[in-house]
Amino acid sequence: MKIHCACGAVIADTTDALPHKAHVVPDQEWHAVLDAIRAAVEGAAATPDGRRLNWARACTVLSNAARLAWQCRDCGRLYLDDHDNQAHEFIPGSADAPVEIFRSRPLVPLSPSAQADPQGP
Ligand SMILES: [Zn+2]
Repeated sequence: MKIHCACGAVIADTTDALPHKAHVVPDQEWHAVLDAIRAAVEGAAATPDGRRLNWARACTVLSNAARLAWQCRDCGRLYLDDHDNQAHEFIPGSADAPVEIFRSRPLVPLSPSAQADPQGP
């Protein structure tokens, strides 16, 4: 997939882990998504098949809630999908706005206690 930015650049979406793409979960859905992920991963997961099923359920919950967004690295415009997966353009308010707003931060490993917390976040 490619988006033709209004500035003339092409925003490519042809692989995973792109620094100019994000999966956005609306705040009004955030807690419902967390609850649904918790429900998806709870229950019997002692078997490999059970763990795979729980993982698939959690991925589906998150994928269904997230909308896609891309940023043009030349001009900083954002393109964000609406409810119908139609991308809309948003223009930065200043020329010095960051053009890599979706680039990942250094990963912070979960502490063992956070990983074992049955109550989650
Ligand atoms: Zn652009």
